[in-house]
Amino acid sequence: MAFNWTPQQNMLLRMVSEFTDKEVAPFDMQIDRDGRYPDGLFQKMVETGFLGIMLPREYGGAAFDPEITAEVIRRMAVGNASAAVTLEGHYKTVDQILKFGTDALKREYLPSATKRIFAFSMTESTGGSNPMGIQTTAKRAGDDWVISGNKIMITNGGLAEVYCVLVKTAPDELSVFLVDKDMPGFSFGKQEDFIGLRGVPVGEIVLDNVRVSADHLLGKLGNGIMIGDSAHDDARILMGAALTGIMEHALQVAADYANERKAGDGTIGQMQSIQRKIADIAMGKETTKLLYQRAALLKANNQPYSEEATMAKAYGSRTAVSACDDALQVLAGYGYSREYPLAHLIMDARAMEIAEGTVEKMRSAIAIAELSK
Ligand SMILES: Cc1cc2nc3c(=O)[nH]c(=O)nc-3n(C[C@H](O)[C@H](O)[C@H](O)COP(=O)(O)OP(=O)(O)OC[C@H]3O[C@@H](n4cnc5c(N)ncnc54)[C@H](O)[C@@H]3O)c2cc1C
Repeated sequence: MAFNWTPQQNMLLRMVSEFTDKEVAPFDMQIDRDGRYPDGLFQKMVETGFLGIMLPREYGGAAFDPEITAEVIRRMAVGNASAAVTLEGHYKTVDQILKFGTDALKREYLPSATKRIFAFSMTESTGGSNPMGIQTTAKRAGDDWVISGNKIMITNGGLAEVYCVLVKTAPDELSVFLVDKDMPGFSFGKQEDFIGLRGVPVGEIVLDNVRVSADHLLGKLGNGIMIGDSAHDDARILMGAALTGIMEHALQVAADYANERKAGDGTIGQMQSIQRKIADIAMGKETTKLLYQRAALLKANNQPYSEEATMAKAYGSRTAVSACDDALQVLAGYGYSREYPLAHLIMDARAMEIAEGTVEKMRSAIAIAELSK
């Protein structure tokens, strides 16, 4: 699928690749080892304008469309998947405020989305795949709402400053409110020690009687599941892009090694068994790319894209785990060593079989969509 990108879009994409090559890729192994971004990297991403790429111009953004936004994520993920997922979590949250926020809320918060990270929090210890299991509540207090509860495993939790929060507004009614880390009653809790995407802070927020005005409600009361699904759909396009970037990274490592590593009179790259692995990685990468690009194109044209976005992440995540495992096998002993990035690429891809909806739930969603056609 070839996009006719404008000179301005091509310029942005070149800038993303240059930034990734210079500021992100050299720290890929360090980020995995240290479990955090190097000092100053996140600030450089902000200063370079990454946070506002998909934000409309009226809020100070660059107003790039869904295909370009996904392409930014793919290019960033070739250098480091965590950095790409940090951006993904921000973009999908901003998207929900754009779709469902009141004009007043957008004017108040969106200009700061070029500098501050936004995050979307649904999961609780009692409700991950099952959102009705959550216990966080929002209760009316005059014109305001008062929110209490804990949200866990939030991408960028601790780094983000603005959170969309799924709450119960009645025993069987879910809604989404926007809260700011500077509001009284807001605090950060436990940080996860996850085995992949080690640069992304994933953590808890604690809401202890946080009072918000009524215009902090996204959409209408009872729209919580719909808004959560919308956030998942937007995230899944970008995760398809991140997974494609991970596979591109693995392919580069495997192909370089296969061309260098001697076996008899030639290289291992001349052996059919190794060629098969290289071919499988390349096919997985290109197929996932087609899936997320199709979903992005549908989104850009205001057509339904939920099923396609879900396919991009469901297919792309298992395919990327398998592709990175194939790449590891090409390098064999060296692939199994932390000298090379393949172990962490497998774990980075593995996260996306869980985050933004598990593959099991996604398969059900795809099947239900197909059965109802
Ligand atoms: C890296 C990472 C980042 C994350 N970021 C965020 C974030 O930004 N915001 C956020 O809110 N959450 C986030 N999460 C949490 C994530 O959304 C949940 O882990 C996920 O929804 C699954 O919930 P759970 O872990 O409670 O598993 P459970 O829901 O307990 O599921 C356990 C198992 O049962 C299966 N299962 C459960 N219900 C069904 C069903 N109906 N159909 C089929 N199978 C089912 C699941 O597929 C899984 O295999 C993140 C998680 C990770 C790993």
